[in-house]
Amino acid sequence: MPLELVTIPCRSDNYAFLVHDAASGQTALFDAPETAPIRAELDARGWTLSHIFLTHHHPDHVEGVADLRAGAEVIGATDDAARLPPLDHALREGDSFTFAGEEVRVFDVSGHTVGHIAFYMPGPGFAFTGDSLMALGCGRLFEGTPEQMHESLGKLAALPDDTLICSGHEYTKSNGKFALTVDPDNEALKARMDDIARLREAGEFTVPSTLALEKATNPFLRADDPSLRAQLGMQDAPEAQVFAETRRRKDAF
Ligand code: ZN
Ligand code: FE
Repeated sequence: MPLELVTIPCRSDNYAFLVHDAASGQTALFDAPETAPIRAELDARGWTLSHIFLTHHHPDHVEGVADLRAGAEVIGATDDAARLPPLDHALREGDSFTFAGEEVRVFDVSGHTVGHIAFYMPGPGFAFTGDSLMALGCGRLFEGTPEQMHESLGKLAALPDDTLICSGHEYTKSNGKFALTVDPDNEALKARMDDIARLREAGEFTVPSTLALEKATNPFLRADDPSLRAQLGMQDAPEAQVFAETRRRKDAF
């Protein structure tokens, strides 16, 4: 039986994700923004947490850990262990972990914070990206450099096109408004904005998205795109500089 993926809205605009394996009864939580909605989802489904995976140390990603961790193993970044809740397993880029018989690979995706990791499950094709690669955006650079984030996003962009990008926030609509300013002729982006408006009006989530859709529409994955580069007047600039300029404009947007 395939793993079940459940998206849980938390706080004002966060997402947490559950991955459940009916065969073993194991359930993993990816990020713990708060307790109540996660506990309610577990209770409604009769699931018990066996694992909690953490992408980075910000309170809106770890605050529920203390209440939810009883009986579960908590897994996070070796490089950020000092700022995360106490970890049962610390992992760094290149390490992998087995959950419900499926490999969970770790990528360092520093930029938003230093020590931010992403978890990739090649079996079902899920990537839990926290505040690194987000729907139509990427996390603000609180600690890392643009070069670091550009490199981090490059690792995620190399995953298979049908990978589900399970990111940490419902920022897609406002991200998209900015995306249109640097990529105004992108037909796939315009079509996606229509879809986003429809989804939000219906009270639905825009997360997760597919990597293929992000590559076609997310300006932070499109530093190689001729029309975006022309829009920025950076036809001949290195991709990392195009990324940095896009990020700078987003910060000022
Ligand atoms: Zn964050
Ligand atoms: Fe966040």
